[in-house]
This record gives sequence, structure tokens and C-alpha cells, in this order.
Amino acid sequence: MNEHDSEKIAYILEKLGYVKTDKIENADFIIYNTCLVRENAELKVYGQLGSLKPLKKEKPDMIIAVCGCMMQTGEAKEIIQEKYKHVDIIFGTKNISSLPSLINRHLSTGNTVVDIEDRDLIDNQIDMIREHPFIGYVNIMTGCNNFCTYCIVPYARGREDSRSPESILDEVNDLAKKGYKEITLLGQNVNSYGKTLSNPISFPDLLRMINKVEGIERIRFLTSHPKDLSDDLIDAMAECDKVCENLHLPFQAGSNRILKEMNRKYTQEDYLLLVKKLKNKIPNITLSTDIIVGFPGETEEDFEETLKVVREVEYDQGFTFIYSKREGTKAATMNNQVERNISQKRFERLLDLMYGIFYKNNEKELGKTLEVLVEGPSKNNDEVLTGRTRGYKLVHFKGDKSLIGKLVNVKITGHNSFSLNGDLI
Ligand code: SAH
Ligand code: SF4
Repeated sequence: MNEHDSEKIAYILEKLGYVKTDKIENADFIIYNTCLVRENAELKVYGQLGSLKPLKKEKPDMIIAVCGCMMQTGEAKEIIQEKYKHVDIIFGTKNISSLPSLINRHLSTGNTVVDIEDRDLIDNQIDMIREHPFIGYVNIMTGCNNFCTYCIVPYARGREDSRSPESILDEVNDLAKKGYKEITLLGQNVNSYGKTLSNPISFPDLLRMINKVEGIERIRFLTSHPKDLSDDLIDAMAECDKVCENLHLPFQAGSNRILKEMNRKYTQEDYLLLVKKLKNKIPNITLSTDIIVGFPGETEEDFEETLKVVREVEYDQGFTFIYSKREGTKAATMNNQVERNISQKRFERLLDLMYGIFYKNNEKELGKTLEVLVEGPSKNNDEVLTGRTRGYKLVHFKGDKSLIGKLVNVKITGHNSFSLNGDLI
């Protein structure tokens, strides 16, 4: 979501005449799009802002802006205003369209300009410079109502709001006309899409509508909360040919006691039943997840339950996080915080287990011919192309650059835990 916001900001700046530079010393405008979800990212922003002080002294006309969800809690905004006075513009996730007027206000007054009022409506999407010419992100909702006790998102991004299906379809149709092949629908919990609309519609029905858009070949979506994943969604995934056989389904923790403390509203048993249903109805499905290690009060036994779920589900990919205390959330007030070195050791054990499972799952792809959407040359070797399967597996293979943006078939001949290698067919 953060990256998608950056695409919009880049568009606005380019319209104003700015061009991208690789060298920070050459910049006339520097902007940080922040994220508040974990402390590390927050600290990084302060570090970066601090290191800009000498450059700003040298180039006082250079504009420094900070935006993103970190600005939407009082604390960060105040710290920046007090300690980082060389920052010129501060705005939130719902003020992106106001950026040109914020720049004007700063230039005409010389003051630091702040705007974090809720302004941009989900139905009025801003044009953007898409990072990819054939893979597009589409916002379908903003905010979150779930209040998982560790998470700052509902405080920073506000309550859930759904975009109308008409507005979504307009954007998807436009992308299809421009030659986009793959779209990813974005929301904090896409499974509760549509509930707040004046004419409520369900997420599975939205998928069925988008599945009919000619030209779009693949549909993905992020993120699904297990408590709201309906049988109808599983049916829609199975019946819609463009919806990829891949699902990101965060479980966060395996222990029922911890899940309750997290306010996740499902049990380990509910989660495993969902996975069973998904694997039955969509046999080739690949699954990924988010896991938090070291939530307050997590014991060795609780952590073993997390390992048990990982072993049972056999994920293809996963994002693992050490619990990060976020002031303002309920979990931050819990007085049984887990020591960092214990969390760190558990985290390493979890990674070991997961990487082994990813390796075995990728091994099962050997000899298969898979459809790959070619994304570009590989980072390390210009002669090698890279792309993703419908199951979101990264594939490297030799081929001509003219194939970029096309769907091709690749026979899988090699693998590691994180990617596959193969030969173009
Ligand atoms: N709405 C999505 C994702 C939200 S943030 C969902 O519910 O799945 C992405 C991930 O960051 C979460 O799934 C969670 O695993 C992690 N996360 C959120 N808050 C965190 C915290 N305080 N400490 C560590 N990880 C956190
Ligand atoms: Fe955070 Fe939970 Fe909402 Fe996801 S569902 S954004 S983890 S509160």
C-alpha cells in the first residue's frame, strides 16, 4: 500500500516538472514515504532526516517532505516539527492530492507546512506513475476496523472504507486498455470489502466482476484476514480463471491463547480448517503468511504451536517479524513483554524451519512447465530474465528481452528456497 502511495506521489511530482535522480546531492526535492507498522522503519526515518541537515544547510532551497502513515499519529509529527526543523512539508496518507498546494504554501511562506486532515476519498484515485508497465496495484479500500492488539494500522490509517465497484472497474478497464496483464487488489482486509457501501457487495462478487475484464490475465489480492475468509471466496477463487492459485493468509501465531490476546478472532483449528478447504478446492494453491514472534507473554509452548502450524500448512513463502512494541496499541500496555534475545532465537528457529519447507516445496516444481509473466532482466545477470508463476514463485531463465511483459512457459530445472530456474519452452 505504501509503495502504491509512492507511485501516486511520483506522478504528482513529475507533473510539476521534477525528474528522478539517483544522487541525493543533486535533489531539489527529497521525500520520505514512511511506515509505522514496526519500530525499525520509524527509527530509520529519523536517522535519514538527521543526516540531511548538512545538505539542507548547503542547499537551503531544497525541499524536504515527509509523508505516510507515521505522520498520522501525533507523536512523530511533533518530534519532526521540534527536532527536525529543516523538514518543510509534512502530510498524511489522505492528503497526497494536496501535495502541489502544500509545495506552493511552503514556497510562498517559507514555513513548514503540515496537512494530515482526512481529505482524499477512496473513490477519487489519483493518477500515478506505475512502477511496472504491465503489473498494476489497485486500491479497493483503505483503513482497518480490526484492532489486532499489536497493530498501529487502525490508528494510523483510520477506519475501513471501501471504494465503489464502478470506480474500481474503471481503473481496471483502463489498465487493461493500456496493456496491463496482472492486477493486485489492495486492502488491509479485502475480505470485508463492500460492507460500508450504500449498495453493499461482497469481495467474491467483486472478483467475479473483475474476472470478466478482457485483457487482464491474472488477478491477485492482499490481504485476507482468516476470520473473514468465506466459502464463497474459496468458490470464487476456484471458478474465476484469472484469479491466481495463490493466497497470502497471515496467521500471526499458532497458540490459541496468544491469538486471543492478539484479538485475531480465530483459533488454530479454524485456521487449519480454512487451509484444508483451500487446498481441497484449489489443488495447486500456494500459500504465504505473516508471523509475529515474541508477542507479549509468548512462552516456549506457545511458540511451538506456531512451528506446528508452519509444519502443517507447508507454506511456499512467508514474512516473519519479531514483535515490535507500538505505543498506543493495547499490546504495548501488556507487562509481560518477551526479552529481545529470546525472541531473536525463536525467530531464527522459525526461519530455519520455513526455509527448509520452501526448499522442499520448490523441489516439487522440478520438471513441471509453468506459466511465467516476464518482469524484466534478473538483478544479477543481464542475460537472465525473471518473472513470476501464477503461484507467485520467482523464476529465472535465459531469454530475449523482447519477452518482457509477456506470458511464457518455462520448464523448471533447478531451485533453491526462494526461487526456481528453468528453460524457456
Ligand atoms: N492488514 C494486514 C497486514 C498489516 S501489517 C493483515 O492483517 O494481515 C503487515 C504485517 O505486519 C502483519 O500481518 C503483522 O504480521 C506485522 N505486524 C503488524 N504490527 C506488528 C508489530 N507491532 N510487530 C511486529 N509485526 C507487526
Ligand atoms: Fe493491523 Fe490486524 Fe488491521 Fe491487519 S487486520 S491492519 S494486522 S489491525
